Amino acid sequence: MNSNQCSFCGRKRSEVQMLISGNDGFICENCIEQAHAIVTENAETSGFSPAESMEDLKKPKEIKTFLDQYVIGQDQAKKQLSIAVYNHYKRILHSKKEDRDVEIEKSNIIMIGETGTGKTLLAKTIARELNVPFCIVDATILTEAGYVGEDVESILSRLLMVADYDVEKAEKGIVFIDEIDKIARKSDNPSITRDVSGEGVQQGLLKLLEGSIVNVPPQGGRKHPDQKYIQVNTQNILFIAGGAFDGIKEIIERRLNKQAIGFSSDKLTKTDDEDYILRQINAIDLRKFGLIPELLGRFPIVTYLEKLTSDMMVRIMKEPKNSIINQFTELFKMDGVDLKFTPEAIEKIVEETMEKGLGARGLRGTTEKVLEDYMFDISAQKKIILTEKNTKF
Ligand code: ADP
Repeated sequence: MNSNQCSFCGRKRSEVQMLISGNDGFICENCIEQAHAIVTENAETSGFSPAESMEDLKKPKEIKTFLDQYVIGQDQAKKQLSIAVYNHYKRILHSKKEDRDVEIEKSNIIMIGETGTGKTLLAKTIARELNVPFCIVDATILTEAGYVGEDVESILSRLLMVADYDVEKAEKGIVFIDEIDKIARKSDNPSITRDVSGEGVQQGLLKLLEGSIVNVPPQGGRKHPDQKYIQVNTQNILFIAGGAFDGIKEIIERRLNKQAIGFSSDKLTKTDDEDYILRQINAIDLRKFGLIPELLGRFPIVTYLEKLTSDMMVRIMKEPKNSIINQFTELFKMDGVDLKFTPEAIEKIVEETMEKGLGARGLRGTTEKVLEDYMFDISAQKKIILTEKNTKF
């Protein structure tokens, strides 16, 4: 071994800025940089790998079992999503077959449910299980081309970014469009004045949803003439949209009541049950709410997430793999502190959170508040047991 040269490229000590010694050789700064580039490149390209064959593809039941580890309740939505996602990736495999007579069409999904009930969590968890790029976009930032705001194509810029600009991988990704209800048409009648952030955006979205080649500005935002575009084919991108759809219950109720007139009064009494009503949701109600029929046609699957009960909230605190309790226990353990929650403390946290109306999203904030003083003076005690008495907000 020559201590005066790089063992990788052979450059002499005098030709490089530094030589770092190892057990059995030397490396110069140029080779370190090259090696680093190789390592990061490999890490990036091996990041996502969707199934390549039917054997690799996870079956709906397997997908649901995986979801169960992270998402509490929402069985119906989990079931529908698992099937839809399975069919979607099966369809991609099918489209590779050369002798196919049947074209299988894409089924995008709309999830309806109050804020903090797990819509985003479900979509995110599914993408992780399938190992495909995933991004979340907020429909409220989108506006019709030519107005202040972002063009609909910018949705795909995010997906490209997540896929490290690997177009092929992005083309098999999942996009979650949040707050789709906020781009509903303001009234039931097509507007005379322009509806910049409503119907116009819905029209713009159609192009992405139906599977076409779209020019995407790599940096997102607004398109402008001298920008370079990346072409993305949206045919195999799965779109999952979510929204709270405030007021939809009344729309469904009106439809159900109308149907019930002159028939059995059975239906009318059943409508007391809020969940029952919401479960009856269909495209007609969404259309009444202000989504245009063409857009609804691109979202054939409509699913509904239950309202979280306090029992479900308690389970959310404890059960998921990265539950709030597990996370805080771990955080305290790093300081050698043993943190325990009694069932009464958990119930109190849930009660306080439910009053805020943020769904399970509020649980973290409430727990954070309870633990604030303990975290501030973390080395004060080795063991903390949260009881009903010392759980204060
Ligand atoms: P939204 O329905 O508004 O999209 P999210 O999925 O973003 O709600 O939920 C917010 C947070 O609340 C999640 O990150 C998760 O920690 C928690 N959460 C909500 N619903 C559930 C659920 N059903 N199971 C487990 N955690 C949940």
